[in-house]
Amino acid sequence: MGIIDTHAHITCDELYKAIDELLERAKDADIERILCICLNRSELERAFELKKHYSWIDIAFGYHPSDLYELKDEDWHYLEHIIFDERIIAVGEIGLDYHWDDVDRETQKQAFIRQLKLAQKCGKPVLIHMREATGDTMQLLKEYKCGKGLLHCYSGSLETACEAIDMDMYISVGGPLTFKNARGLPEVITQLPLDRIMVETDCPYLTPHPHRGKRNEPMYIVHTLEKLAQLHDITAEELKKQLKENYLKLFS
Ligand SMILES: [Zn+2]
Ligand SMILES: [Zn+2]
Repeated sequence: MGIIDTHAHITCDELYKAIDELLERAKDADIERILCICLNRSELERAFELKKHYSWIDIAFGYHPSDLYELKDEDWHYLEHIIFDERIIAVGEIGLDYHWDDVDRETQKQAFIRQLKLAQKCGKPVLIHMREATGDTMQLLKEYKCGKGLLHCYSGSLETACEAIDMDMYISVGGPLTFKNARGLPEVITQLPLDRIMVETDCPYLTPHPHRGKRNEPMYIVHTLEKLAQLHDITAEELKKQLKENYLKLFS
């Protein structure tokens, strides 16, 4: 049974320049599927190209809250047209990021709402980026989300995770679960139902322990998976089976 990386920026400039080798290593590490998160048109076009040769790559597309000032009207028109393409299985990552001050909050909210409505229209799940913006993100999800979704790289409270699950969302965990300073995260994740959890790398960022400091890539997901299996006291094989079921449930 293979592992699914549910959030990987493999078509960003940094990872794409040696993509064939990266995918080769991923295959060797038992990765059977990668959800490639594209944040702009050029990353998306690369993903379409990749998918011709690697059918096991899935594609998501959406505008990240930190990139909004770079967007022109034509970028929005492009998104609103291409999102109906059947090769794209989800809208994201979208959401709110109040950690970085580079885009004002009102602009972030408007772009988030616009993309939530678009997800409704095309009937695809949403992949949510939520950083230091829990209250506003959850409120807008309640108001505008209609289908399923996933909170990516989760690091919030048990209460918020349960609230999201009640809204038919899944919770995805990344490398921070393995960090020595993970604080309350392992305790939160231990209390969540396994049929609502997924794992991701968010590569090239957030490399799991013991590779922290190196550039992240899908093959390192095994460390996050092992940590999750240990927390839930099941074997890695059982966990892989469950995670695959979760993925199919969300995206089929
Ligand atoms: Zn993110
Ligand atoms: Zn990401």
